[in-house]
Amino acid sequence: MTTHSTDLVIIGAGPAGLFSVFEAGMLKIKSHVIDTLEIIGGQCTALYPEKPIYDIPAHPKVLASQLIEQLEAQAAPFSPVYHLNQRVEKFVKNSDGTFTVSTSKNTEINCKAVVIAAGCGAFGPNRPPLQGLEEFEGKSVFYAVRNKSEFAGKKVVIAGGGDSAVDWALSLADIAAKVYVVHRRDKFRCAPESADQMKKLAAEGKIEMVIPFQLEGLEGTDGKLENVVVKDFDGNVKKLEADYLLPFFGLAMELGPIADWGLNLTKNHIEVDPATMRTSIEGVYAIGDIATYKNKLKLILTGFAEAASAAHDMHKIVHPDQLFHFEYSTSKGVS
Ligand SMILES: Cc1cc2nc3c(=O)[nH]c(=O)nc-3n(C[C@H](O)[C@H](O)[C@H](O)COP(=O)(O)OP(=O)(O)OC[C@H]3O[C@@H](n4cnc5c(N)ncnc54)[C@H](O)[C@@H]3O)c2cc1C
Repeated sequence: MTTHSTDLVIIGAGPAGLFSVFEAGMLKIKSHVIDTLEIIGGQCTALYPEKPIYDIPAHPKVLASQLIEQLEAQAAPFSPVYHLNQRVEKFVKNSDGTFTVSTSKNTEINCKAVVIAAGCGAFGPNRPPLQGLEEFEGKSVFYAVRNKSEFAGKKVVIAGGGDSAVDWALSLADIAAKVYVVHRRDKFRCAPESADQMKKLAAEGKIEMVIPFQLEGLEGTDGKLENVVVKDFDGNVKKLEADYLLPFFGLAMELGPIADWGLNLTKNHIEVDPATMRTSIEGVYAIGDIATYKNKLKLILTGFAEAASAAHDMHKIVHPDQLFHFEYSTSKGVS
C-alpha cells in the first residue's frame, strides 16, 4: 500500500479533470489525479485523438490530442501527481471530514476534497459477440484509432452506424487501400452531412457499403486478421478481405464503484448543484460528463467552467483559515 496526502483528489484525467488541476492550482489547492486508462485525456485521447474539435473557445480548430497536450502543459506549473492505470475503488469520509480514496493498485490518498470527473464512468467499448475475438484485439481489432497512419494502404472494415463509424470511414478513405462500412440498416445515426459525404465517397468507389449486414466472425491466424465474415438477415454470408476491423458500437458506460458511494444519482450520472458543482456529500464535487443538472450540455467547454466553479467553492474547505479574494489570472499570474 502506498499512501499519499494532498488537498484534492481528482478522479478522471479527461479534459474536465485536467482543467480542474489548473483551477485548483490557481487557488493554491494541490491535487492528485487518478485514471483507469494508461494515458491522460479521457475520451479525447482514448476515442478520437486525431479528430479536430471546433468548439473550444479561442481555438477555431484543435486536434483532440493537442487539446490534451495543452491542458497538461497548463496544469504542469501546479505539479499534479498522476496515478494512471488504476481505478478508484473505495472512498471513505473520515470522522474529521477528510476523505480517503483507494485504488485498484493499492494507492491510498488522504485529501480534504474530491472532484469526480469520471466522464461516463470507467468506460470501455461495447465489444461485438464474436468467437475468438480476444485473439485479434489489440492486433487487428481496435475500438479506437490512436494513430491514423497505421491504416495507410490497409484494408479496413468499419462496423457501426454512429458518428465514430462514419467519421473514421471518411477519414480513412483517404489513406486506406480499402474501407468497408458494415451496418445493419441504411440509416446512420450521425450528422446528416457526414452521411451524405460517405454516400458520395461510396458512389466514387472509395468506400464499400456492406448493408444490411452484421458481423458474424473473424478469420486469421495468431491475431492477424484475414477476413471479416458478415451475414445478412436472410442468412447470406460474405467474406471481406481485411487487415483490420474497427467496431464502433459505442461505449459501455459503467459507473463502477462510484455508484455505491451514497451520492444522489440520476440515470448513472451524479446530481449536482450547478452553481457550485457540489454533490450530495459535502466536500465531494462532480464535473464534466458525469455531472447532471437541468439542461446540462455534455461538452468540453461546460466541463471547464464547472471545474472553475468547483475549485472556487472548495477553497473554504481546503483553506478554512484563509479569506478568499477573487482575482483574475491576469492579476495573479501562474506560480
Ligand atoms: C467521437 C467524439 C467526438 C466528440 N467531439 C466533441 C466536440 O467536438 N466538442 C465537445 O465539446 N465534446 C466532444 N465530445 C465529448 C467530449 O469528449 C466529452 O464531453 C469530454 O471528454 C468529457 O470530459 P470529462 O473529463 O468529463 O470525461 P472523460 O473525457 O470521459 O474522462 C473521464 C475519465 O475518467 C476515468 N474514470 C472513470 N471512472 C474512473 C474510476 N473509477 N477510476 C479512475 N478513473 C476513472 C476514465 O477512464 C476517463 O479517462 C466528443 C466525444 C466523442 C466520443
